[in-house]
Amino acid sequence: MMSDRNNPFRIAQQQFDMAADILGLPDSLRAVLRVPQRELTVNFPVKMDGGGTRMFTGYRVQHNLGRGPVKGGIRYHPSVDIDEVRALAMWMTWKCALVNIPYGGAKGGVIVDPKQLSLGELERLTRRFATEISILLGPERDIPAPDMGTNAQMMAWIMDTISMHRGYTVPAVITGKPINIGGSLGRVEATGRGVMLMVREVARRLGRRIDGLRVVVQGFGNVGSTAAFLLDQIGCTVVGVSDATGGYYRPAGLDIPAMRTFTDRHSFRMLEGYNDPGVERISGTALLELDCDVLIPAAIENQITEQNADRIRASVIVEGANGPTTPDADRILAERGVMIVPDILANAGGVIVSYFEWVQGLQEFFWDEYDINEKLERIIVGAFNQVWQMATERRLTLRTAAYLLAVQRVADANQTRGVYP
Ligand code: NAD
Repeated sequence: MMSDRNNPFRIAQQQFDMAADILGLPDSLRAVLRVPQRELTVNFPVKMDGGGTRMFTGYRVQHNLGRGPVKGGIRYHPSVDIDEVRALAMWMTWKCALVNIPYGGAKGGVIVDPKQLSLGELERLTRRFATEISILLGPERDIPAPDMGTNAQMMAWIMDTISMHRGYTVPAVITGKPINIGGSLGRVEATGRGVMLMVREVARRLGRRIDGLRVVVQGFGNVGSTAAFLLDQIGCTVVGVSDATGGYYRPAGLDIPAMRTFTDRHSFRMLEGYNDPGVERISGTALLELDCDVLIPAAIENQITEQNADRIRASVIVEGANGPTTPDADRILAERGVMIVPDILANAGGVIVSYFEWVQGLQEFFWDEYDINEKLERIIVGAFNQVWQMATERRLTLRTAAYLLAVQRVADANQTRGVYP
């Protein structure tokens, strides 16, 4: 049972309050931005392979529509709950504003362990969930994407379901689709690529050499494995990685391409069974406390808390996951001089390329991968530079600076539009 202290929505509200206090936002506007604008809970049956049906519960939350249609992933995980989805939706609002793409924030989720379902059951669940939340979706309204436990195939089923309802193909209703139905080149790697760029930029600012920089990555899914792979390619030494089955450590550096090949070939991309005599198996908790330069949490929320913040040995944390660090841990780490590149900046690569995918779908005009990676780099490094400059000038943490920039943009848009009616 999660303590109220670690409730992601409470944490998201606390982070917003901190920014609202510093910005001096009027109470009326603060009241609007502190809560989601719309929340939909759906309970729905799915036909199971055994013959019967099983009930599932899912959510779609739209936090703020002030800056445009809303954008945010869909998560399949047994621990999904409404407060987690609310927090993730609010973080999406700030993330889109920080990198200045014309979206508000949303998020969705289904309480399910996708590993326990057959492919057919997953397809029926995905199509029914898409139908249940379809009253909110549309290219000009709400555009989902993948998150933990979902992938490009599920995005294809959602796109197909909405298209069947409409009677024509609607590619821009969802992003993170396979390339052969209007997905964008570079989308699968985009979040991990953004994380790699943030490691590179922070190292540059701190005067550290990339070559041999020792990196630890928690989570070896889409974000973690791509970040590890790209960091390995630019010369970092990835000494530790983990997934839900445990940690893998080699001080001289892991063979990340081999580990990626292994997970590509195994069900649900798990590292369990990966065997290399030079690699030590460690616990997931020990992994976070390894001696390294950069720690990249790229799994789930609340991994760095007041319980372990004192024992983190990295000097830089780059948040690939959403909400991996609690506010208590944030304070302890700031006092210890550990620099954190916050989630709303560090993992924004995914939504930036999702934005490109949406634009390409609307225009029916597709760009090459060079163009996409170059534009991604320009946007995310530009946002990093703005955050770095504000943090340096005003002696703030990178998280506080990122929140001030993002919340101000959202507040301005809401104020300019006014209150209806
Ligand atoms: P994923 O499902 O592809 O991978 C998740 C990984 O985390 C898996 O390797 C899983 O085994 C591991 N994991 C789960 N619980 C763990 C634990 N307790 N300890 C260690 N590892 C654990 O998911 P993803 O898309 O890579 O997302 C990871 C994080 O990044 C999430 O917080 C997500 O919200 C965030 N994120 C994802 C994207 C994206 O484009 N996919 C974009 C922005 C942010």
